[in-house]
Amino acid sequence: MSRPTQVSISRSALQHNLQRTREIAPNSKVMVPVKCDAYGHGIKKVVSALSNADGFAVACLDEALVTRGFTDKPIIILEGLYQSNELSQAYEANCEVVVHCLDQLEMLEQHNGPEQFNTWLKINTGMCRLGINPRDFEEYWQRLHDCACVNKPVKLMTHFANADDPNNPMTSQQIQCFFDTIKDTQTICSLANSGATLAWPDAHADWIRPGIMIYGASPFRNQTGPEHGLKPAMTLSSSLISIHHAKAGDRVGYCSQYECPEDMAIGVIAIGYGDGYPHSLPSGTPVLLNGHAAPLIGNVSMDMSAVDLRQHPEAKIGDTAIIWGEGLPVEKIARLANTIPYELFCNIHKRVIRE
Ligand SMILES: *Cc1c(COP(=O)(O)O)cnc(C)c1O
Repeated sequence: MSRPTQVSISRSALQHNLQRTREIAPNSKVMVPVKCDAYGHGIKKVVSALSNADGFAVACLDEALVTRGFTDKPIIILEGLYQSNELSQAYEANCEVVVHCLDQLEMLEQHNGPEQFNTWLKINTGMCRLGINPRDFEEYWQRLHDCACVNKPVKLMTHFANADDPNNPMTSQQIQCFFDTIKDTQTICSLANSGATLAWPDAHADWIRPGIMIYGASPFRNQTGPEHGLKPAMTLSSSLISIHHAKAGDRVGYCSQYECPEDMAIGVIAIGYGDGYPHSLPSGTPVLLNGHAAPLIGNVSMDMSAVDLRQHPEAKIGDTAIIWGEGLPVEKIARLANTIPYELFCNIHKRVIRE
């Protein structure tokens, strides 16, 4: 028998979340971000499950080429191209490229092949990661339109820094900055990630780019996907591989971090930081054992973690333990680990079996 640690992805949850997203932004097309192996969910699974999405977004050409194996829909390369020798491959795979800096503009200006590219110009409205300065917009717009290899009109995009907080005024400022910058330019625009899709209808525009919500998690710190009508697509689970009876005062795991307050049963589950279950999780973090929470005790180790079985007298070896997903929100585990669901998803290790 193989190690019981596995991740299962629900096609129906993915499809439901896309449908729910369309209800929230009924007038926008949806490009689903599938960077980083579809947020750790598996690119093939996600792209085939979401064959009715309007397009997909990836970080780089390599990811675009993999994605192209599973769809004929538009694929947008969010970081654009790094070098001019990527242009022909990007063209052959029919990818749309983002231009966010001068080097990328010059790459297109200097290209003298027959290819024509669908191009997105990215404007930095406050995120200060990628994108041109708003005051350079007219110049970039003009120069891109002068490029023989650029399909007209160029499309426009920006990205939000604080859309994970519905009370942060910065998102409205960024929306304002974007529309002030492009003035009455007539073209296709894309602004919204999941946070803006949910909380800033003004940002929906022509295309939305909802990532985390398609995977069923909330972009907001104090909410969960189901509160927005979303369903978790990923369930990470394992099973109980040992039960033993400790005495009051025994200490559990590395650094003997947990001391048993009384004689008690301890369960060992085959999940550890080597699978992507964070070492930083504190004692008390819930694991769902046969549908009921069992608290983690002591440090998470590489391959295993221990739980308190005092409330689980019926527990036996082989019982299923849900680490996050169905019945146990990933948002809750992320908060306890001082991180975000995105990081937990992306950190699922290769050795975890995929259902
Ligand atoms: C990753 C990404 C998104 C999706 O963000 P979510 O918070 O997952 O919805 C949208 N746009 C860009 C440019 C991104 O890099």
